Amino acid sequence: MKRQLSKNEKRRIASKNIKELIDFSLNKEYPLQYRKRALALAKRLSLKFNVRAKELDYYFICKKCGEPLIPGGNVSIRLNKKRLIFKCLNCGNINRFPYSKRNSGKKKSKE
Ligand SMILES: [Zn+2]
Repeated sequence: MKRQLSKNEKRRIASKNIKELIDFSLNKEYPLQYRKRALALAKRLSLKFNVRAKELDYYFICKKCGEPLIPGGNVSIRLNKKRLIFKCLNCGNINRFPYSKRNSGKKKSKE
């Protein structure tokens, strides 16, 4: 008889798979179409099993071309008027996201 996996076990396996998929999508040796697909799969897994991965946050993927954005690689990041400005260097699309002091929690920067 097959043993049913508990919810936690499912989530643990899902998060492991998500990590592998993200690693795959960040590896530039693989063709772009597979990397995009891996990223989409990782996103679906994280939605289904309610697993968070910081790499899957909204700003990590170009909204236009779907390419994974790698800081220091194919994206330029600027701060302007309390907004994060991500410019995708593949398609030139500009993604803007607001940031505020509220989201940073109790930590204070040393500036
Ligand atoms: Zn793009």
